[in-house]
Order: sequence, then C-alpha cells, then structure tokens
Amino acid sequence: MFDTDMASNSTASAPKPAASRRVPVTLSVKAHDEKSAPTTKLADAPRSGPLVDRYGRVHDDLRVSVTDRCNLRCVYCMPLTGMQFLPRDELLTFDEIVEVASVAKELGVKSIRLTGGEPLVRHGLVDLVARLSALGFGDLAMTTNATRLAPVARTLYEAGLTRVNISCDSLREDRFASIRRRGDLRTVLHAMDVAESVGLAPLKINVVLVRGVNDDEVEDFADFARQTGRVVRFIEVMPLDAQGAWDRAQLVSGREIFERVSARWPLEALAREGDVAPAERFRFVDGRGEIGLISSVTQPFCGTCNRLRLTADGDIRNCLFSDDELSVRDAVRAGDRVAIAQLFRDAVWAKYPGHAINDPSFLRPVRSMSMIGG
Ligand code: SAM
Ligand code: SF4
Repeated sequence: MFDTDMASNSTASAPKPAASRRVPVTLSVKAHDEKSAPTTKLADAPRSGPLVDRYGRVHDDLRVSVTDRCNLRCVYCMPLTGMQFLPRDELLTFDEIVEVASVAKELGVKSIRLTGGEPLVRHGLVDLVARLSALGFGDLAMTTNATRLAPVARTLYEAGLTRVNISCDSLREDRFASIRRRGDLRTVLHAMDVAESVGLAPLKINVVLVRGVNDDEVEDFADFARQTGRVVRFIEVMPLDAQGAWDRAQLVSGREIFERVSARWPLEALAREGDVAPAERFRFVDGRGEIGLISSVTQPFCGTCNRLRLTADGDIRNCLFSDDELSVRDAVRAGDRVAIAQLFRDAVWAKYPGHAINDPSFLRPVRSMSMIGG
C-alpha cells in the first residue's frame, strides 16, 4: 500500500466500485525467461536499417530522461524521504543528449519526449529544447509536473517545444497536496492556462488513479475535460514506485473508468488507425472533449509499442518493465556514432514481446519510474 494519509481523506460518500465493474486482469504477454534472454539474441541484431525488433515493431519514439531528480514526492512514485539520486557527474551532458538524439533521428526516430524525474529541475532545459528542435523532430514534447512551467512556458514554446503533458492527480487543493506531497494545485492549474496561452495546446493532463485515494474524482476529471477541452488521460498505477509499495488492490482499471464516465456522459471510441499511442481515446458523444485511458496493467499495449528510453545516465532501455539496459555513455564520449547506432539496434532487437506484470514470475524492475523516465 502507498504510504499516504489520503485513505483517511477519501470521502465516505465516494462512489464505491460495483463488483461488476471489476475486470479480470488479463495475461496477454509472455513472462521473461532464460530462453528469450536478450543476450543470446544480440548477435542476430541488424547492422543497418530502421529500429525493428524481433516481432516487427518499428521504434520511432524516444523518451529522454534529463534527470532522475524531482521537486515533488508523489505517493505512487517515490518515498517522502530517503530517495537516492544519481551523482550529477553521471548525467549525460546536453551535448551528449543531443548527439544521441541525432543518431536516433538518423535511425528513424520521429518524436522525442523529455521527461524525468522532473525535467524542469534540470538547469538550462530551454537550451536543450532549442538544440533538439534544430535536429528537426516532428514532435518534441515534455511531461512535467508543471510546478515550474509557467515562467518558462513561452520560452520553451519559442525554442521549439511542441506539446506538454501535465500531471495532476486531484482537483482538490488538500488532496493534491497529500498525493504530490510538495507543490500546490493552484500553481499547476495556472501553468495549464499559461501553457495553452503560449501555444502548447491541446494540453494532455495525466491522472494516476489510486483506489481509496482519488478514485472518487473520475467524474470530476471527466467534467474538467469537458469544460476545458484538455485531454484527460487516466493512467493505471503501475508497480514502478521506488518504495515498492504497489498493491494491485489500489489499481483502478481503465474499464471501470470507461464505465463510470460513459454512464454519465456517453463516449465513443476514436479511430486508432496508424496510432500507436498507448492511450485508448474516447470522445464525448455530445462533442465536448475527449478522454484517454492508459491501461498498462489490465490491457497491455505491448503489441504496438514503438518506444525507447534514454535514462539520465545514458542507458538505452527498451521497456519500462525490463531491466535490460545498454549504456551509450562510453560510445558518446568516444564520439563513435556507429557504436551508438548499433547500441540502439541491439536494444531494440533484445526487446521482449511484452511486459509480464500479470505473470506470477514478474519481478519489478530495479529502477523505478522516476529513475527510468516515465
Ligand atoms: N515529473 C514529471 C511528471 O510527474 O509529469 C515527469 C516524470 S513522471 C515519472 C511521468 C508520468 O509518470 C507522470 O504522469 C506520473 O504521474 C506517472 N507515474 C509516476 N509513477 C507512476 C506509477 N507508479 N504508475 C503510473 N504512472 C506513474
Ligand atoms: Fe516527481 Fe513526476 Fe514522480 Fe511525481 S510522478 S514524484 S512529479 S517524477
């Protein structure tokens, strides 16, 4: 269970999920095992061409973590105290990140998302955005807690940032404070307004729901989407908190959210043709806005995964849930672009068909969400 005082904040009148709303957790992916261990496969990895894995998935989306540090301490992400961070000299410099990104671009990567930790705690981020933008990616986005966004939103936009996803798990001041444990709701809501006014629109709002903590706000967030035109994306809480307190009983499934929202405001699915984004998208039938469901646990979307991650200390990671990492740091420092490209190809080739959260053999990864880059 997450260590929060929020269970007591949960209102007595909060809607309790009906038993019928609970859905069985599906096992749609293979457990990691010795036979498919990537080290036995790297020799077969292609030496040229795009970033294709053994299952035909083409990878063209790179999440770049610029820091594992954060100014908040969200209950589902990291403990209130005692979090260990990377020594600063282990982080890739901006020069190094740009070098890796430019190799990735040559390999067909089309979109970059900056993340962390909290990307805006890394000094000089605007400079990095400008340099990545100059490489010509079609999409250059950022996921942020938005506590430091408002003052730099315009500069980021002018530097070439195309979109932001803002995380916000409650629309109630006191509860926001107890979930995120630092920062305040008003600052984040203001940042949303500023981001939109400078052109970083449409905004996506990431909401992680935790049963007994904020699951009574599903309808409030759906209404927020309707009133503001912001795309609210409900994310199932994943076993990626640094303290290892994840508990399946606290998961609120995408199916339950769909049923609750559509009972109030009918929804219809938006076409997913050519769209490999993890969110299942639904629009309100009356035309007032859109929500997304990211059901990573109950309905894994591994079959269309096109993502790679670069950790702040220079490891290429092919899946949030796999501990397999290949370091590009030495290759970058040696100026060896061919080696960097091969590390990308090897990492993609080593990718498993899917994560195994729902398999009894699942071991939670050593690095947590904020250390990997969510
Ligand atoms: N600090 C930034 C933020 O909060 O937006 C960016 C990094 S954060 C790791 C990226 C996203 O991961 C956020 O939307 C956050 O809510 C989500 N996240 C963190 N821990 C999670 C978990 N255990 N399960 C599901 N989502 C999680
Ligand atoms: Fe920080 Fe984002 Fe993790 Fe919250 S979810 S602690 S804001 S990295």
